[in-house]
Amino acid sequence: MQTKLINFSKYSSFKIGGVFEVALLEDDFSCINDYYLIGSCNNTLVGNNPPPLMMLSKKYDYIKIENNTLKIGGATPSGKVASFCKKHNIANFEFLSHLPGKLGGLVFMNAGLKEYEIFNHLVDITTPQGMMQKESIEFGYRFTNIASPILEATFSLEYGFDVQKVEMFQKMRANQPSTPSAGSCFKNPQGDYAGRLIEAVGLKGLMQGDMCFSEQHANFLVNCGEGTFNDAIWLIKEAQKRVCKEFAIRLECELVILES
Ligand SMILES: Cc1cc2nc3c(=O)[nH]c(=O)nc-3n(C[C@H](O)[C@H](O)[C@H](O)COP(=O)(O)OP(=O)(O)OC[C@H]3O[C@@H](n4cnc5c(N)ncnc54)[C@H](O)[C@@H]3O)c2cc1C
Repeated sequence: MQTKLINFSKYSSFKIGGVFEVALLEDDFSCINDYYLIGSCNNTLVGNNPPPLMMLSKKYDYIKIENNTLKIGGATPSGKVASFCKKHNIANFEFLSHLPGKLGGLVFMNAGLKEYEIFNHLVDITTPQGMMQKESIEFGYRFTNIASPILEATFSLEYGFDVQKVEMFQKMRANQPSTPSAGSCFKNPQGDYAGRLIEAVGLKGLMQGDMCFSEQHANFLVNCGEGTFNDAIWLIKEAQKRVCKEFAIRLECELVILES
């Protein structure tokens, strides 16, 4: 199996992590139970000792229009999908122009902005075990029960790219920090906001090393320079501890922590 050395302090959106070897998945799927699958690590905090890692090869970076559907490979970056849809006047993917990730990671996380989620127009996915129809997948807010690498996803095809939606998504992003992060650190608990709770327990802006919950948006854990995995974990645990003590709410991480 081919491998690739990746420097996660450059590759991950957090800009945290060492240099680790990553197996490239192409046609041989015999190792998938022994490795952890990554996409573009826009939702991932890479630890000092991550498990063995794998990623889809370039073979899965494609977009095709077929039988009145859109077929997208799991390794296709969101920006490429957004550009393709703009060029071909395709509707419903405008939100991807401001949402970083590869298609497999986006589908696995059911990523989205407000009510615009990647599952909205999903038809089926292809995994090494075969196809799964949307109806057979459990999914919800930043959650799916998919337990296998997503090699391809099929979406219904509608025409009419909406530039106004792109502008709307851009505005939604205006209050979010541009400092390296992995987007929202915690899922919003039902009926509340993780950012409000983090602020209420005095953690907004508190620096641990070079990491903090952003002054601009308290649910964004940001790396202000040389932030480390240990600093990030300290803040995550501190937030969970304080919020549990004061509000009896368990904050669940939205970001994925990769540590053995
Ligand atoms: C600035 C910023 C803003 C963000 N804003 C949002 C937002 O508004 N809404 C939102 O939903 N997210 C947001 N995110 C998070 C991120 O964009 C999404 O979670 C995205 O889906 C991550 O994709 P990825 O390829 O980077 O996945 P990774 O971080 O690499 O992986 C995430 C998870 O997906 C799994 N995975 C990856 N590829 C596959 C595959 N092919 N098959 C099966 N599982 C796979 C991994 O095992 C892991 O569990 C933001 C991130 C950043 C940095």
